Amino acid sequence: MRYISTRGAAPPLDFEQVTLAGLAPDGGLYLPERWPSFSADAIAALAGLSYVDTAVAVMKPFVGDALDEDALRALCTQAYGRFSHAAVTPLVQLDERQWLLELFHGPTLAFKDVALQLLGLLFERFLSNRDTHLTIVGATSGDTGSAAIDAIAGRAKVDIFMLHPEGRVSDVQRRQMTTVFAPNVHNIAIDGSFDDAQALVKAMFADRDFAGRFALSAVNSINWARLMAQVVYYFYAAVRLGAPGRPVAFSVPTGNFGDVFAGYVAAKMGLPIARLIVATNVNDILYRALSSGDYSTGEVTATATPSMDIQVSSNFERLLFDLGGRDGQAMAAQMHGFEATKAMRLTDGQLGGAAGLFASARIDADDMALAMRWASEAAGQVIDPHSAVGLAAARAADLDPAVPLVTLATAHSAKFRDAVERATGNRPALPARVGDLFARAERCVSLPADFGAVTAHIAAHATPR
Ligand SMILES: *Cc1c(COP(=O)(O)O)cnc(C)c1O
Repeated sequence: MRYISTRGAAPPLDFEQVTLAGLAPDGGLYLPERWPSFSADAIAALAGLSYVDTAVAVMKPFVGDALDEDALRALCTQAYGRFSHAAVTPLVQLDERQWLLELFHGPTLAFKDVALQLLGLLFERFLSNRDTHLTIVGATSGDTGSAAIDAIAGRAKVDIFMLHPEGRVSDVQRRQMTTVFAPNVHNIAIDGSFDDAQALVKAMFADRDFAGRFALSAVNSINWARLMAQVVYYFYAAVRLGAPGRPVAFSVPTGNFGDVFAGYVAAKMGLPIARLIVATNVNDILYRALSSGDYSTGEVTATATPSMDIQVSSNFERLLFDLGGRDGQAMAAQMHGFEATKAMRLTDGQLGGAAGLFASARIDADDMALAMRWASEAAGQVIDPHSAVGLAAARAADLDPAVPLVTLATAHSAKFRDAVERATGNRPALPARVGDLFARAERCVSLPADFGAVTAHIAAHATPR
């Protein structure tokens, strides 16, 4: 399998190269040259398979020759062996047609573990064949940082430096990062906002000398391998609910459009998906784009769902490229226009193409809290605010009642205890697997939001390529 850039001017890569790469050199995002196709028989044959065997079957065409099937299975077994539920991503029934797909049984209690646990192992495996050392640098508002650190801790030939805004992540999120004492893990608390931390990371990647010297790499959801790993649970859930014989709909709490793009990929591969509901909070750029073609940014409003407080959704470019007939030149022109003006219109082709599969909903704080209470009172399920945004959108959706509707539950309720307590009156307990989080020592340096100070710290602790 070869991977091409959405902006049409970067050389194609194989799976190993695309896993280690971040953004394409032409500024685009990589995606497969063509979608693999699963027949109804091939989908039916997934019935009854374990999560790991489903993962191997679904990911094999994307991995190509980069790993043989046994090696891929060994990595999946290791990655998903760290989940606390035998089904890895279990389905839970809410009522006669609503389901939750629980994606939070990994080590850091959010769905990002599903992709990052595998990505950490893929990095180590591919770097072992090479004479290079990688330095992962990232900024986090919480969930990505903890999941990436857990996945990279102790892996050979890779260091991770994670910047978070000091005092602006939840105590659970901070401790999940700062209590990891592996020598290759470096936490930096920045005196500033998430945007300040993100701007520092962007400046480091733009500094060619610095980026080259330490072989900087990223683990955010622009990485293709992360999206690939997320395609698996759409197959796993749909097959359990009757696919390929019966179509299934999904509602996805969305920020950077990574998770829901994985659903689009599953549909492209032949999985019968009746609808993908893109659920946003009041930061609603995707809702506006999909309902009226207006993709324009505004100020970010802080909500109880911080992982969705995003105004520019990186992975949306992948969808627009695919819906627009895969014309790299046209995509580059459209994105350059957006980067200059912070606004663009979807073409009729893009809007019409999206309408065939996607619906979208904008969920405010009241709707979110109502969904949390309904889940608790009517179905006995305590859910987190992000999952509640998805559930609110699912309950409002206008769909054939015969179609099962699955909301992706993206975080464990204990990760956002304060918001859950406010909405439901119950304070969720931390699950046993992270039970001593508050007894562990923390390690973290505090630095000003200053490029010189942060790069000097990284240079002093990273391994040159
Ligand atoms: C990251 C995240 C999301 C948003 O996922 P995207 O792939 O960015 O759309 C939703 N919920 C939680 C809990 C997250 O951590």
